[in-house]
Amino acid sequence: MKYLDQIDVSGKRVFVRVDFNVPMDKSSGQVKDDTRVKASLTTINYIREKGARVIVASHLGRPKGKKVEEFSLKPVAPVFSSLLKKDVPFIDDCIGEKVLEAVAAMKAGDVILLENLRFYPGEDKNDDAFAQELAKLCDVYINDAFAVSHRAAASNTAITKFVPICAAGFLLKNEIEYFNRAMGNPARPLAAIIGGAKVSDKIKVLENVIDKVDRLVVGGGMAFTFLKAQGYNVGKSLCETDMLDLARTILDKAKAKNVQFLLPTDAVIAQNAAADAEVKIVDIKNIPDDWMGLDIGPATIAAFSEAVKSAKTIVWNGPLGMFELAPFSSGTFKLVDAAVDSGALTIVGGGDTDTAIHKTGKSDRISYISTGGGAFLELLEGKTLPAVAALG
Ligand code: AMP
Repeated sequence: MKYLDQIDVSGKRVFVRVDFNVPMDKSSGQVKDDTRVKASLTTINYIREKGARVIVASHLGRPKGKKVEEFSLKPVAPVFSSLLKKDVPFIDDCIGEKVLEAVAAMKAGDVILLENLRFYPGEDKNDDAFAQELAKLCDVYINDAFAVSHRAAASNTAITKFVPICAAGFLLKNEIEYFNRAMGNPARPLAAIIGGAKVSDKIKVLENVIDKVDRLVVGGGMAFTFLKAQGYNVGKSLCETDMLDLARTILDKAKAKNVQFLLPTDAVIAQNAAADAEVKIVDIKNIPDDWMGLDIGPATIAAFSEAVKSAKTIVWNGPLGMFELAPFSSGTFKLVDAAVDSGALTIVGGGDTDTAIHKTGKSDRISYISTGGGAFLELLEGKTLPAVAALG
C-alpha cells in the first residue's frame, strides 16, 4: 500500500474519499461539530500545494440509495470553505455530466465538494458501474476515510480497480501506523483496557487481543458476565447468561497464555441507573440481588491504574462504567489519568471512549484517538479492513 507522500499528484485530478459524516443540527440544518472536516485538512492542503485539483467526496447519514435532502452535504461546504480559507464550490451530484464539467473547469489548487455518495444505491453495494463513474472524475484516488474502511463501498473499494494510482491519505496513514505500533510490534508490557456494555459485542476483540497483550483490564458492564462466570452474584448488573461458557473459555485462555486478566474487585452500585440514585461501594462478592454495578470501585481503580501506569503500550476500547452519569464516571476518568501518567504509547478507539476522554479535557495527552469506532474495533478483532486491503 502506498501513502499520499509516496506518489506524484502534481497537476493531477485527485479524488479524495473523506469522512464528512458530521453531526447536523436537525432544526437549523447546520453542522454541529466540524472535527471530521478539520481532520481532512492536512491531506487536502498537501494535495492542493502540489498544484493538483481536489475532488472531495463523502457520505452523510444513511439515505439508503436515494436523494434525501436532510442528508445533503451542501451545509458542509461553507464550513469546509472557511476552514480551508478557500471557496469550495458544492456540486449537487457526485457522478455524471454536471460533475465532469465542474472538474474540467477547475484550476490548480481548486477544491470542490460533491454531493452525498450514498444518494446512489451503488455506493453501499460496492458496485463496479458506480465506481467506474466516480473513477472518470480523476487520475489519482486517495482514501482518507478510515471510519468507513471496514465496509466495502464503491468509493473506497471498487473504485481502486478503475483508477491507476491509489493511495492512503494522511489520516488513514496515521490510523494504520499507530495501530501497528501498538498491536504489531509493541513496546511491552502491552495492556488492553476493554470496557463497554456487552461481552457479546466484544468477543472477537477479546479473543484476538488475548493472543497479543500482556495484561487485559476488563471493566464496564461486560465485566459482570466474567464475574458471574466465576461464581459471583452480580445482582441486577448487566450480565449475558448465554455468554458464561465463552467467558470461562476466555479466562482459561488468559491463564494458559500467562496473560494477566484484571477484573473488578469492588463496584459502585445502585438500584437504578440514574444520576440521582443512591449509590454504595461494595466488594464484588457483596452485590445485593436488586442492585447493579455501574462503575468500578476505588480498590479496582487503584489496581487497574497500577496495571496501566506500568505499561509501555496501552490500547483502550470501551468505558469502565456508565460514565455518562456523574456518580458512575470515576472509574473511566481515573483510568484516563493513569493512561496519561504512564507515558506509554496510548491508542484509544470507539465512540464512547473518545467522548469520555474528551470530557476529561486530556485528549491531547493521549498518543492517538482513532477517528473510527467500528473500523477500530475490527482492527482490534484482527480483521483486515476491505478498503485498506483494496489499496494494497
Ligand atoms: P460500548 O458501546 O459497548 O463500548 O458500551 C458503552 C456503553 O456501556 C456506555 O454507554 C456505558 O454507559 C455503558 N456501560 C459501561 N459500564 C456499564 C455498566 N456497568 N452497566 C451498564 N452500562 C455500562
